[in-house]
Amino acid sequence: MGAEGKLQLLLQDAGLSAELKHIAEKVLNNQRITFDEGVTLYEKGELAYVGVLANYVREKRHGDVTYFNRNFHIEPTNLCVYDCKFCSYSRLIKQRSEGWEYTMEEMFDIVKKYDGEPVTEVHIVGGVLPQYDVPFYAELFSKIRAHRPELHVKALTPVEYHYIFKKAKIDYATGMKMMMDAGLGSIPGGGAEIFDEGIREQIAKDKCTSQQWLDIHEEWHKLGGRSNATMLYGHIEEFKHRVDHMERLRQLQDRTGGFQTFIPLKFRNKDNQMSHVPEVSVIEDLRNYAIARIYLDNFDHIKAYWAMISRNTAQLSLNFGVDDIDGTLDDTTKIYSMAGAEEQTPAMSTKELVELIKQVGRHPIERDTLYNVVTDYQNHQFAEEAKPQFYKLPVIN
Ligand code: SF4
Repeated sequence: MGAEGKLQLLLQDAGLSAELKHIAEKVLNNQRITFDEGVTLYEKGELAYVGVLANYVREKRHGDVTYFNRNFHIEPTNLCVYDCKFCSYSRLIKQRSEGWEYTMEEMFDIVKKYDGEPVTEVHIVGGVLPQYDVPFYAELFSKIRAHRPELHVKALTPVEYHYIFKKAKIDYATGMKMMMDAGLGSIPGGGAEIFDEGIREQIAKDKCTSQQWLDIHEEWHKLGGRSNATMLYGHIEEFKHRVDHMERLRQLQDRTGGFQTFIPLKFRNKDNQMSHVPEVSVIEDLRNYAIARIYLDNFDHIKAYWAMISRNTAQLSLNFGVDDIDGTLDDTTKIYSMAGAEEQTPAMSTKELVELIKQVGRHPIERDTLYNVVTDYQNHQFAEEAKPQFYKLPVIN
């Protein structure tokens, strides 16, 4: 039975409450759900119920298609002037001996390591330090683009942009234009954490505010740029804070249409100042993906980072609204493993990613950063598999 048939069947369930039935009807009729209905989904929507709704939306938009990309990360430093309570990654400047600070040349050497490799994107994000300023990043982006013009530079979050623009005494619009001229291709989704000001103050005070995060994305969208958005969930926030977060994103997206992808990020409690906060279950992870897919009706894509949630949960998530499971990574990021993610050395070959997607009946497509199709792997045979099915026997005349 297809996704629509399952939703029709759900609507015939006599045990379904009137409010959950009303939400299901809205989803079937392509109507937007309200803030209160979003909270109801979190409070009363069981996994099977939200899964049917989210999979209906997912398959209506993308069918079985599941995206991934081939990328590598550069993390300029794990030192940071900020001190977010949930951060397992950053070492404060006073713990400098445990940190790294790459120079321009060291970062450029990482880029050159991938010369000749079929990667389409470099993802640059890390801690915030004074030496990484506007001239530094402008030079880095232009050097990468001059060296390899087709490589998409997805770099820095509003946390870094707010800091470097303030230091340079330039406004967001001017700063983002400078970055675009230097070769910036798009902005990743990080730094959003949770927008509710009260919760943000407790877990990530001092860095850019929620409004500043949204303003920087808005300026970037006005220039024609695309970006992603994240939400850090499963810590001290309540369900209404998650819906508030998505509501603010939905409103900005209505104005600009510049977001491509929403990426829920699970709070992990290893080696950080919130280690006493328990992590949420896999069921809550899947419910969260599903509700995001239902609520964010103007976002094209919902992404799960396989390296963060494990390969098995990533497979499951494809039935709960997710249509993108990120990239091959090639073990170039420490952000997930240092926070206690399932994958301590995250690397997956293209073949492994394709098999992971096919195993659960989905259709793997390698995309570039802007979701142009690079390779359709549905009927692709990898070189080592392309063996003859049968051999010619010698014929005796
Ligand atoms: S989350 Fe980002 S801004 Fe906060 S301490 Fe960690 S690296 Fe710094």
